[in-house]
Amino acid sequence: MEEYKIDYEILDYDKFYLRLKNIQYNLANKNEVTKHEPIGYTKCGFPIEHYSIGHGPMHIVYMGGAHGNEIISVDYVTQLMQNIALGCGEFADFNPEEFTIDFLPCQNPEGFFTTTYALKSIMQDMNEREIEEFSKKYYQLYREDDQSVININKILRTFCEEFDLSAIKEDLTTLFWQKSINKDITSNYIISFLLIFFHLDETKLSKFINNKWQELFKDKKVISHLKKHQEIFNNLTLDCIPLIDEKHHKLKEALSKIYQDNKFPIGTLANFFSNASGVNLNDNNEYYFQELKKKIRVEKDVYANFRDNNLLKNIPGPVGVPNEDMDGEFQYAEENQALLSFLAKQDNNNENYAFINCHGTGGVLYIYPVVDDDLEEAHTNGVTRDFKFYINGRLANDYIKKTDEIYEKITKKPSSGYKTVGFPSRITGVGDVLRKKYIASFLLELSKMGGNPIAPYGDKNVNYYLTMTANMQAAKQLMETIKEVAHLYDTSYFMYYDSLGNVHYEPRKRR
Ligand SMILES: [Zn+2]
Repeated sequence: MEEYKIDYEILDYDKFYLRLKNIQYNLANKNEVTKHEPIGYTKCGFPIEHYSIGHGPMHIVYMGGAHGNEIISVDYVTQLMQNIALGCGEFADFNPEEFTIDFLPCQNPEGFFTTTYALKSIMQDMNEREIEEFSKKYYQLYREDDQSVININKILRTFCEEFDLSAIKEDLTTLFWQKSINKDITSNYIISFLLIFFHLDETKLSKFINNKWQELFKDKKVISHLKKHQEIFNNLTLDCIPLIDEKHHKLKEALSKIYQDNKFPIGTLANFFSNASGVNLNDNNEYYFQELKKKIRVEKDVYANFRDNNLLKNIPGPVGVPNEDMDGEFQYAEENQALLSFLAKQDNNNENYAFINCHGTGGVLYIYPVVDDDLEEAHTNGVTRDFKFYINGRLANDYIKKTDEIYEKITKKPSSGYKTVGFPSRITGVGDVLRKKYIASFLLELSKMGGNPIAPYGDKNVNYYLTMTANMQAAKQLMETIKEVAHLYDTSYFMYYDSLGNVHYEPRKRR
Protein backbone atom coordinates (compact mmCIF):
# COMPACT_ATOMS: atom_id res chain seq x y z
CA MET A 1 0.00 0.00 0.00
CA GLU A 2 3.02 2.27 0.37
CA GLU A 3 2.96 2.76 -3.38
CA TYR A 4 0.23 5.38 -2.92
CA LYS A 5 0.64 8.65 -1.07
CA ILE A 6 -2.32 8.82 1.29
CA ASP A 7 -2.71 11.68 3.78
CA TYR A 8 -4.99 10.83 6.67
CA GLU A 9 -6.44 14.18 7.74
CA ILE A 10 -9.77 15.92 8.13
CA LEU A 11 -9.75 18.78 5.65
CA ASP A 12 -11.01 22.28 6.37
CA TYR A 13 -10.93 25.53 4.41
CA ASP A 14 -7.21 26.20 4.92
CA LYS A 15 -6.15 22.56 4.61
CA PHE A 16 -8.23 22.12 1.44
CA TYR A 17 -6.49 25.01 -0.30
CA LEU A 18 -3.10 24.07 1.10
CA ARG A 19 -3.53 20.51 -0.17
CA LEU A 20 -4.53 21.73 -3.65
CA LYS A 21 -1.55 24.07 -3.77
CA ASN A 22 0.86 21.37 -2.62
CA ILE A 23 -0.46 18.97 -5.25
CA GLN A 24 -0.20 21.55 -8.02
CA TYR A 25 3.33 22.69 -7.20
CA ASN A 26 4.88 19.41 -6.02
CA LEU A 27 8.35 19.21 -7.62
CA ALA A 28 8.10 15.42 -7.59
CA ASN A 29 5.12 15.46 -10.00
CA LYS A 30 5.52 13.29 -13.08
CA ASN A 31 2.33 14.69 -14.61
CA GLU A 32 1.60 18.38 -14.66
CA VAL A 33 -1.45 19.67 -12.78
CA THR A 34 -3.33 22.57 -14.39
CA LYS A 35 -5.59 24.90 -12.43
CA HIS A 36 -8.47 26.27 -14.52
CA GLU A 37 -10.98 29.05 -14.05
CA PRO A 38 -13.62 27.85 -11.59
CA ILE A 39 -16.64 26.27 -13.34
CA GLY A 40 -18.85 28.67 -11.39
CA TYR A 41 -19.44 30.39 -8.07
CA THR A 42 -21.88 29.75 -5.23
CA LYS A 43 -24.37 32.37 -4.11
CA CYS A 44 -22.02 33.40 -1.28
CA GLY A 45 -19.19 33.69 -3.80
CA PHE A 46 -17.16 30.53 -3.19
CA PRO A 47 -15.46 29.28 -6.37
CA ILE A 48 -16.20 25.77 -7.63
CA GLU A 49 -12.64 24.78 -8.43
CA HIS A 50 -11.46 22.91 -11.50
CA TYR A 51 -8.10 21.19 -12.06
CA SER A 52 -6.89 18.77 -14.70
CA ILE A 53 -4.06 16.39 -15.50
CA GLY A 54 -3.15 15.35 -19.05
CA HIS A 55 -4.27 16.76 -22.38
CA GLY A 56 -5.62 13.72 -24.21
CA PRO A 57 -8.89 13.68 -26.16
CA MET A 58 -10.67 11.37 -23.71
CA HIS A 59 -11.89 13.18 -20.60
CA ILE A 60 -12.79 11.54 -17.31
CA VAL A 61 -14.33 13.83 -14.70
CA TYR A 62 -14.09 13.18 -10.97
CA MET A 63 -16.28 15.33 -8.77
CA GLY A 64 -16.60 15.37 -4.98
CA GLY A 65 -18.60 17.24 -2.39
CA ALA A 66 -22.09 17.49 -3.91
CA HIS A 67 -23.25 16.88 -0.36
CA GLY A 68 -21.29 19.12 1.98
CA ASN A 69 -21.19 16.57 4.80
CA GLU A 70 -19.71 13.80 2.62
CA ILE A 71 -16.18 14.96 3.30
CA ILE A 72 -14.55 11.67 2.29
CA SER A 73 -15.50 12.44 -1.33
CA VAL A 74 -13.52 15.69 -1.39
CA ASP A 75 -10.68 13.89 0.36
CA TYR A 76 -10.71 11.10 -2.24
CA VAL A 77 -10.88 13.29 -5.35
CA THR A 78 -7.96 15.45 -4.17
CA GLN A 79 -5.85 12.42 -3.20
CA LEU A 80 -6.62 10.75 -6.53
CA MET A 81 -5.34 13.92 -8.21
CA GLN A 82 -2.22 13.82 -6.04
CA ASN A 83 -1.46 10.20 -6.92
CA ILE A 84 -1.99 10.62 -10.65
CA ALA A 85 0.21 13.73 -10.57
CA LEU A 86 2.98 11.83 -8.78
CA GLY A 87 2.56 8.78 -11.01
CA CYS A 88 2.21 6.55 -7.94
CA GLY A 89 1.42 2.84 -8.09
CA GLU A 90 -0.69 1.91 -11.10
CA PHE A 91 -0.48 5.49 -12.38
CA ALA A 92 3.22 5.09 -13.22
CA ASP A 93 2.31 4.57 -16.87
CA PHE A 94 -0.43 7.21 -17.04
CA ASN A 95 -0.35 8.64 -20.55
CA PRO A 96 -1.20 12.36 -20.66
CA GLU A 97 -1.52 12.18 -24.46
CA GLU A 98 -4.45 9.76 -24.16
CA PHE A 99 -6.49 11.14 -21.30
CA THR A 100 -7.46 14.37 -19.64
CA ILE A 101 -8.58 13.80 -16.07
CA ASP A 102 -10.74 16.67 -14.82
CA PHE A 103 -11.08 17.21 -11.10
CA LEU A 104 -13.95 19.16 -9.55
CA PRO A 105 -12.88 18.48 -5.96
CA CYS A 106 -15.88 20.16 -4.33
CA GLN A 107 -19.16 21.02 -6.01
CA ASN A 108 -20.72 22.40 -2.83
CA PRO A 109 -18.08 24.48 -1.04
CA GLU A 110 -20.67 26.22 1.17
CA GLY A 111 -21.86 22.92 2.65
CA PHE A 112 -18.37 21.43 2.76
CA PHE A 113 -16.79 24.42 4.52
CA THR A 114 -19.73 24.66 6.94
CA THR A 115 -19.28 21.00 7.90
CA THR A 116 -15.51 21.21 8.12
CA TYR A 117 -15.36 24.53 10.00
CA ALA A 118 -17.71 22.95 12.53
CA LEU A 119 -15.55 19.82 12.75
CA LYS A 120 -12.41 21.93 13.03
CA SER A 121 -13.71 23.79 16.08
CA ILE A 122 -14.05 20.42 17.86
CA MET A 123 -11.23 18.38 16.33
CA GLN A 124 -8.39 20.74 15.47
CA ASP A 125 -6.07 19.72 18.28
CA MET A 126 -6.50 15.98 17.80
CA ASN A 127 -3.63 13.80 16.64
CA GLU A 128 -4.21 10.92 14.20
CA ARG A 129 -5.01 8.41 16.93
CA GLU A 130 -7.50 10.78 18.55
CA ILE A 131 -9.13 11.55 15.19
CA GLU A 132 -9.59 7.83 14.62
CA GLU A 133 -11.03 7.25 18.11
CA PHE A 134 -13.40 10.20 17.89
CA SER A 135 -14.54 9.14 14.41
CA LYS A 136 -15.15 5.61 15.62
CA LYS A 137 -17.17 6.88 18.57
CA TYR A 138 -19.22 8.97 16.14
CA TYR A 139 -19.74 5.90 13.96
CA GLN A 140 -21.16 4.02 16.94
CA LEU A 141 -23.50 6.87 17.98
CA TYR A 142 -24.70 7.24 14.42
CA ARG A 143 -25.51 3.54 14.20
CA GLU A 144 -27.20 3.61 17.59
CA ASP A 145 -29.46 6.45 16.42
CA ASP A 146 -30.31 4.48 13.29
CA GLN A 147 -30.91 1.30 15.23
CA SER A 148 -33.30 3.00 17.67
CA VAL A 149 -35.50 4.17 14.80
CA ILE A 150 -35.28 0.79 13.06
CA ASN A 151 -36.29 -1.01 16.27
CA ILE A 152 -39.25 1.26 16.94
CA ASN A 153 -40.39 0.82 13.33
CA LYS A 154 -40.10 -2.92 13.84
CA ILE A 155 -42.30 -2.74 16.94
CA LEU A 156 -44.93 -0.75 15.03
CA ARG A 157 -44.83 -3.06 12.02
CA THR A 158 -45.10 -6.27 14.01
CA PHE A 159 -47.93 -4.66 15.97
CA CYS A 160 -49.74 -4.09 12.65
CA GLU A 161 -49.22 -7.70 11.64
CA GLU A 162 -50.32 -9.06 15.00
CA PHE A 163 -53.46 -6.91 15.15
CA ASP A 164 -54.58 -7.36 11.50
CA LEU A 165 -53.55 -3.87 10.42
CA SER A 166 -50.87 -4.80 7.88
CA ALA A 167 -52.39 -2.52 5.23
CA ILE A 168 -51.53 0.62 7.19
CA LYS A 169 -48.00 -0.39 8.31
CA GLU A 170 -46.16 2.36 6.44
CA ASP A 171 -48.68 5.12 7.12
CA LEU A 172 -48.64 4.28 10.80
CA THR A 173 -44.85 4.57 11.13
CA THR A 174 -44.87 7.91 9.26
CA LEU A 175 -47.66 9.20 11.50
CA PHE A 176 -45.89 7.94 14.62
CA TRP A 177 -42.71 9.89 13.90
CA GLN A 178 -44.61 13.02 12.93
CA LYS A 179 -46.48 12.99 16.23
CA SER A 180 -43.36 12.11 18.20
CA ILE A 181 -41.01 14.93 17.23
CA ASN A 182 -39.13 16.11 20.32
CA LYS A 183 -40.62 13.41 22.49
CA ASP A 184 -38.77 10.76 24.45
CA ILE A 185 -40.04 7.33 23.53
CA THR A 186 -40.77 4.48 25.94
CA SER A 187 -42.87 1.35 25.57
CA ASN A 188 -45.65 3.09 27.53
CA TYR A 189 -45.50 6.01 25.14
CA ILE A 190 -46.03 3.64 22.19
CA ILE A 191 -48.93 1.94 23.97
CA SER A 192 -50.68 5.26 24.69
CA PHE A 193 -50.08 6.40 21.14
CA LEU A 194 -51.71 3.29 19.71
CA LEU A 195 -54.66 3.50 22.10
CA ILE A 196 -55.51 6.97 20.77
CA PHE A 197 -56.01 5.56 17.30
CA PHE A 198 -57.27 2.03 17.86
CA HIS A 199 -59.85 0.43 20.15
CA LEU A 200 -57.85 -2.46 21.47
CA ASP A 201 -57.67 -4.72 24.48
CA GLU A 202 -55.23 -2.70 26.58
CA THR A 203 -53.83 -5.67 28.49
CA LYS A 204 -53.15 -7.64 25.35
CA LEU A 205 -51.59 -4.60 23.64
CA SER A 206 -49.37 -3.72 26.62
CA LYS A 207 -48.10 -7.25 26.90
CA PHE A 208 -47.30 -7.39 23.21
CA ILE A 209 -45.50 -4.01 23.03
CA ASN A 210 -43.58 -4.55 26.28
CA ASN A 211 -42.34 -7.93 25.08
CA LYS A 212 -41.25 -6.55 21.73
CA TRP A 213 -39.50 -3.62 23.40
CA GLN A 214 -37.68 -5.92 25.78
CA GLU A 215 -36.63 -8.20 22.92
CA LEU A 216 -35.21 -5.35 20.80
CA PHE A 217 -33.95 -2.84 23.35
CA LYS A 218 -33.00 -5.18 26.24
CA ASP A 219 -32.73 -3.03 29.39
CA LYS A 220 -32.80 0.34 27.62
CA LYS A 221 -35.94 2.06 28.92
CA VAL A 222 -36.03 5.38 27.05
CA ILE A 223 -35.08 6.53 23.56
CA SER A 224 -34.26 10.18 23.93
CA HIS A 225 -35.59 12.69 21.38
CA LEU A 226 -32.05 14.05 21.27
CA LYS A 227 -30.01 12.33 18.57
CA LYS A 228 -26.65 11.18 19.88
CA HIS A 229 -24.77 11.81 16.64
CA GLN A 230 -26.09 15.39 16.65
CA GLU A 231 -25.64 15.92 20.39
CA ILE A 232 -21.93 15.12 20.23
CA PHE A 233 -21.58 18.47 18.41
CA ASN A 234 -24.04 20.47 20.52
CA ASN A 235 -21.38 22.88 21.80
CA LEU A 236 -21.02 24.38 18.34
CA THR A 237 -21.93 27.96 17.53
CA LEU A 238 -22.00 29.86 14.26
CA ASP A 239 -18.81 31.56 15.42
CA CYS A 240 -16.96 28.54 14.05
CA ILE A 241 -17.24 30.38 10.69
CA PRO A 242 -14.42 32.96 10.74
CA LEU A 243 -15.25 36.29 9.09
CA ILE A 244 -12.10 36.44 6.98
CA ASP A 245 -13.65 37.83 3.80
CA GLU A 246 -16.86 38.85 2.08
CA LYS A 247 -17.91 35.31 1.16
CA HIS A 248 -17.43 34.07 4.72
CA HIS A 249 -19.61 36.97 5.95
CA LYS A 250 -22.30 35.90 3.52
CA LEU A 251 -21.93 32.25 4.53
CA LYS A 252 -22.42 33.03 8.21
CA GLU A 253 -25.35 35.30 7.44
CA ALA A 254 -27.05 32.62 5.32
CA LEU A 255 -26.51 30.00 8.04
CA SER A 256 -27.91 32.35 10.72
CA LYS A 257 -31.14 32.44 8.73
CA ILE A 258 -31.33 28.65 8.64
CA TYR A 259 -30.67 28.22 12.36
CA GLN A 260 -32.75 31.15 13.66
CA ASP A 261 -35.51 30.25 16.14
CA ASN A 262 -33.69 26.95 16.78
CA LYS A 263 -35.37 25.34 13.80
CA PHE A 264 -32.54 22.78 13.72
CA PRO A 265 -30.19 21.36 16.40
CA ILE A 266 -26.95 23.33 16.17
CA GLY A 267 -24.94 20.07 16.09
CA THR A 268 -26.11 19.57 12.49
CA LEU A 269 -23.63 22.28 11.45
CA ALA A 270 -21.07 19.47 11.51
CA ASN A 271 -23.17 17.31 9.18
CA PHE A 272 -24.42 19.85 6.67
CA PHE A 273 -25.66 18.26 3.41
CA SER A 274 -27.02 21.39 1.67
CA ASN A 275 -25.58 24.62 0.37
CA ALA A 276 -25.92 27.69 2.59
CA SER A 277 -29.32 28.50 1.08
CA GLY A 278 -30.46 25.17 2.52
CA VAL A 279 -30.82 23.49 -0.89
CA ASN A 280 -29.79 19.84 -1.22
CA LEU A 281 -27.90 19.71 -4.52
CA ASN A 282 -28.86 16.11 -5.33
CA ASP A 283 -32.54 16.69 -4.54
CA ASN A 284 -32.40 19.94 -6.55
CA ASN A 285 -34.17 18.63 -9.67
CA GLU A 286 -37.61 19.05 -11.19
CA TYR A 287 -38.72 15.44 -10.51
CA TYR A 288 -37.99 15.37 -6.81
CA PHE A 289 -39.29 18.93 -6.44
CA GLN A 290 -42.72 17.78 -7.69
CA GLU A 291 -42.57 14.62 -5.59
CA LEU A 292 -41.83 16.53 -2.40
CA LYS A 293 -44.55 19.11 -3.13
CA LYS A 294 -47.04 16.24 -3.34
CA LYS A 295 -45.73 14.81 -0.09
CA ILE A 296 -46.01 18.19 1.63
CA ARG A 297 -49.65 18.46 0.54
CA VAL A 298 -50.38 15.14 2.28
CA GLU A 299 -48.03 15.19 5.27
CA LYS A 300 -47.46 18.95 5.72
CA ASP A 301 -44.14 18.48 7.50
CA VAL A 302 -41.68 16.11 5.85
CA TYR A 303 -38.73 14.79 7.81
CA ALA A 304 -35.47 13.10 6.83
CA ASN A 305 -34.97 9.38 7.47
CA PHE A 306 -33.77 7.22 10.34
CA ARG A 307 -31.15 8.93 12.51
CA ASP A 308 -32.13 12.34 11.09
CA ASN A 309 -35.90 11.99 11.41
CA ASN A 310 -36.01 15.08 13.63
CA LEU A 311 -34.85 17.28 10.72
CA LEU A 312 -37.35 18.97 8.41
CA LYS A 313 -36.89 18.56 4.68
CA ASN A 314 -39.61 20.94 3.53
CA ILE A 315 -37.84 24.11 4.62
CA PRO A 316 -34.27 25.19 3.81
CA GLY A 317 -32.00 23.40 6.28
CA PRO A 318 -29.00 21.14 6.84
CA VAL A 319 -30.57 18.18 4.98
CA GLY A 320 -32.17 20.57 2.57
CA VAL A 321 -35.00 21.25 0.15
CA PRO A 322 -35.06 20.53 -3.61
CA ASN A 323 -35.84 24.17 -4.40
CA GLU A 324 -35.05 27.26 -2.36
CA ASP A 325 -38.67 28.40 -2.64
CA MET A 326 -40.96 25.38 -2.42
CA ASP A 327 -43.91 27.50 -3.64
CA GLY A 328 -42.00 29.11 -6.49
CA GLU A 329 -40.73 28.03 -9.90
CA PHE A 330 -38.16 25.27 -10.00
CA GLN A 331 -34.60 26.49 -10.39
CA TYR A 332 -31.28 24.75 -10.45
CA ALA A 333 -28.98 26.07 -7.74
CA GLU A 334 -25.81 27.91 -8.88
CA GLU A 335 -23.68 24.83 -8.17
CA ASN A 336 -25.83 22.60 -10.38
CA GLN A 337 -26.05 25.18 -13.16
CA ALA A 338 -22.26 25.28 -13.18
CA LEU A 339 -21.94 21.49 -13.30
CA LEU A 340 -24.61 21.01 -15.97
CA SER A 341 -23.07 23.56 -18.30
CA PHE A 342 -19.59 22.13 -17.72
CA LEU A 343 -20.79 18.62 -18.67
CA ALA A 344 -22.89 19.86 -21.60
CA LYS A 345 -19.90 21.66 -23.06
CA GLN A 346 -17.78 18.55 -22.78
CA ASP A 347 -20.49 16.46 -24.40
CA ASN A 348 -20.79 18.93 -27.30
CA ASN A 349 -17.06 18.56 -27.88
CA ASN A 350 -17.34 14.74 -27.79
CA GLU A 351 -14.85 14.72 -24.95
CA ASN A 352 -16.83 13.02 -22.20
CA TYR A 353 -15.76 9.44 -21.66
CA ALA A 354 -16.81 9.11 -18.03
CA PHE A 355 -18.12 11.17 -15.15
CA ILE A 356 -17.73 9.93 -11.58
CA ASN A 357 -19.88 11.81 -9.10
CA CYS A 358 -18.33 10.87 -5.75
CA HIS A 359 -20.50 10.79 -2.64
CA GLY A 360 -19.80 9.73 0.94
CA THR A 361 -20.74 6.27 2.08
CA GLY A 362 -22.20 2.97 0.92
CA GLY A 363 -19.55 1.13 -1.10
CA VAL A 364 -21.71 1.12 -4.25
CA LEU A 365 -21.54 2.36 -7.81
CA TYR A 366 -24.84 3.59 -9.25
CA ILE A 367 -25.02 2.71 -12.95
CA TYR A 368 -27.29 3.51 -15.92
CA PRO A 369 -30.74 3.43 -14.34
CA VAL A 370 -33.29 3.13 -17.13
CA VAL A 371 -33.72 0.57 -19.89
CA ASP A 372 -34.78 2.07 -23.22
CA ASP A 373 -38.44 1.31 -23.67
CA ASP A 374 -38.79 1.74 -27.41
CA LEU A 375 -39.73 -1.71 -28.73
CA GLU A 376 -43.02 -0.50 -30.16
CA GLU A 377 -41.25 2.33 -31.97
CA ALA A 378 -38.78 -0.25 -33.34
CA HIS A 379 -41.69 -2.17 -34.86
CA THR A 380 -43.32 0.86 -36.47
CA ASN A 381 -40.67 3.41 -37.48
CA GLY A 382 -37.39 1.83 -36.43
CA VAL A 383 -35.10 3.28 -33.77
CA THR A 384 -31.53 4.46 -33.48
CA ARG A 385 -29.70 2.90 -30.59
CA ASP A 386 -26.22 3.35 -29.24
CA PHE A 387 -23.93 1.39 -26.98
CA LYS A 388 -24.48 3.58 -23.95
CA PHE A 389 -25.99 0.77 -21.94
CA TYR A 390 -23.23 -1.67 -22.87
CA ILE A 391 -20.41 0.80 -22.27
CA ASN A 392 -21.87 1.74 -18.92
CA GLY A 393 -22.17 -1.90 -17.85
CA ARG A 394 -18.66 -2.82 -19.03
CA LEU A 395 -17.04 0.09 -17.26
CA ALA A 396 -18.96 -0.56 -14.07
CA ASN A 397 -18.25 -4.30 -14.01
CA ASP A 398 -14.54 -3.86 -14.54
CA TYR A 399 -14.46 -1.16 -11.87
CA ILE A 400 -16.21 -3.39 -9.35
CA LYS A 401 -14.05 -6.40 -10.17
CA LYS A 402 -10.95 -4.34 -9.47
CA THR A 403 -12.25 -3.21 -6.07
CA ASP A 404 -13.08 -6.85 -5.23
CA GLU A 405 -9.50 -7.81 -5.99
CA ILE A 406 -8.07 -5.15 -3.68
CA TYR A 407 -10.55 -5.75 -0.85
CA GLU A 408 -10.07 -9.50 -1.05
CA LYS A 409 -6.33 -9.12 -0.58
CA ILE A 410 -6.77 -7.21 2.69
CA THR A 411 -9.99 -8.61 4.14
CA LYS A 412 -9.47 -12.18 2.82
CA LYS A 413 -13.17 -12.23 1.90
CA PRO A 414 -14.19 -12.86 -1.72
CA SER A 415 -16.42 -10.28 -3.46
CA SER A 416 -15.91 -7.88 -0.58
CA GLY A 417 -15.40 -4.83 -2.81
CA TYR A 418 -18.00 -2.46 -4.23
CA LYS A 419 -21.41 -3.37 -5.65
CA THR A 420 -23.30 -1.94 -8.63
CA VAL A 421 -26.79 -0.56 -8.17
CA GLY A 422 -29.21 0.19 -11.04
CA PHE A 423 -32.14 1.62 -9.15
CA PRO A 424 -34.08 3.77 -8.93
CA SER A 425 -35.38 3.28 -12.46
CA ARG A 426 -37.12 6.62 -12.06
CA ILE A 427 -35.30 9.86 -11.50
CA THR A 428 -35.21 11.32 -8.01
CA GLY A 429 -31.78 12.94 -7.84
CA VAL A 430 -29.51 15.09 -9.96
CA GLY A 431 -27.21 12.07 -9.91
CA ASP A 432 -29.97 10.11 -11.69
CA VAL A 433 -30.57 12.91 -14.20
CA LEU A 434 -26.91 12.73 -15.16
CA ARG A 435 -26.71 8.92 -15.12
CA LYS A 436 -29.58 8.84 -17.60
CA LYS A 437 -28.37 11.68 -19.77
CA TYR A 438 -24.70 10.95 -20.32
CA ILE A 439 -22.96 7.92 -21.71
CA ALA A 440 -20.85 6.80 -18.78
CA SER A 441 -22.07 8.76 -15.83
CA PHE A 442 -21.84 7.13 -12.42
CA LEU A 443 -22.55 8.00 -8.85
CA LEU A 444 -19.98 6.45 -6.54
CA GLU A 445 -20.78 6.02 -2.85
CA LEU A 446 -17.35 5.73 -1.28
CA SER A 447 -16.75 4.49 2.26
CA LYS A 448 -18.23 1.15 3.29
CA MET A 449 -18.16 2.37 6.87
CA GLY A 450 -21.27 4.56 6.99
CA GLY A 451 -21.89 7.76 8.95
CA ASN A 452 -21.08 11.10 7.36
CA PRO A 453 -19.06 13.12 7.91
CA ILE A 454 -16.37 11.33 9.94
CA ALA A 455 -17.27 7.63 10.35
CA PRO A 456 -15.17 6.79 7.23
CA TYR A 457 -12.14 7.91 9.30
CA GLY A 458 -12.99 5.57 12.20
CA ASP A 459 -10.83 2.70 10.96
CA LYS A 460 -7.69 4.11 9.42
CA ASN A 461 -5.83 1.01 8.36
CA VAL A 462 -8.68 -0.95 6.83
CA ASN A 463 -11.73 1.13 5.89
CA TYR A 464 -9.97 4.41 5.18
CA TYR A 465 -6.98 3.07 3.26
CA LEU A 466 -9.09 0.62 1.31
CA THR A 467 -11.55 3.35 0.32
CA MET A 468 -8.65 5.36 -1.06
CA THR A 469 -6.49 2.68 -2.64
CA ALA A 470 -9.17 0.35 -4.04
CA ASN A 471 -10.84 3.25 -5.81
CA MET A 472 -7.55 4.57 -7.12
CA GLN A 473 -6.73 1.22 -8.66
CA ALA A 474 -10.26 0.99 -10.02
CA ALA A 475 -9.75 4.48 -11.48
CA LYS A 476 -6.77 3.10 -13.40
CA GLN A 477 -8.87 0.12 -14.49
CA LEU A 478 -11.52 2.55 -15.74
CA MET A 479 -8.98 4.11 -18.11
CA GLU A 480 -7.99 0.67 -19.42
CA THR A 481 -11.59 -0.35 -20.06
CA ILE A 482 -12.38 2.97 -21.75
CA LYS A 483 -9.50 2.34 -24.17
CA GLU A 484 -11.00 -1.06 -25.02
CA VAL A 485 -14.48 0.25 -25.77
CA ALA A 486 -13.55 3.73 -27.05
CA HIS A 487 -14.65 2.96 -30.62
CA LEU A 488 -18.20 2.25 -29.40
CA TYR A 489 -18.60 5.79 -28.08
CA ASP A 490 -18.81 6.98 -31.69
CA THR A 491 -21.00 4.19 -32.97
CA SER A 492 -24.72 3.72 -33.09
CA TYR A 493 -27.03 1.59 -35.17
CA PHE A 494 -30.45 1.91 -36.72
CA MET A 495 -32.73 -1.08 -36.18
CA TYR A 496 -36.14 -1.84 -37.57
CA TYR A 497 -38.50 -4.77 -38.04
CA ASP A 498 -39.81 -5.65 -41.50
CA SER A 499 -43.35 -6.86 -42.17
CA LEU A 500 -42.30 -10.48 -41.54
CA GLY A 501 -40.93 -9.56 -38.13
CA ASN A 502 -37.29 -9.92 -39.12
CA VAL A 503 -34.96 -7.42 -37.52
CA HIS A 504 -32.49 -5.38 -39.59
CA TYR A 505 -29.49 -3.42 -38.41
CA GLU A 506 -27.66 -0.59 -40.13
CA PRO A 507 -24.52 0.94 -38.64
CA ARG A 508 -24.55 4.68 -38.04
CA LYS A 509 -22.26 7.25 -36.54
CA ARG A 510 -23.29 8.41 -33.09
CA ARG A 511 -21.34 11.65 -33.06
ZN1 LIG B 1 -24.61 12.08 -1.12
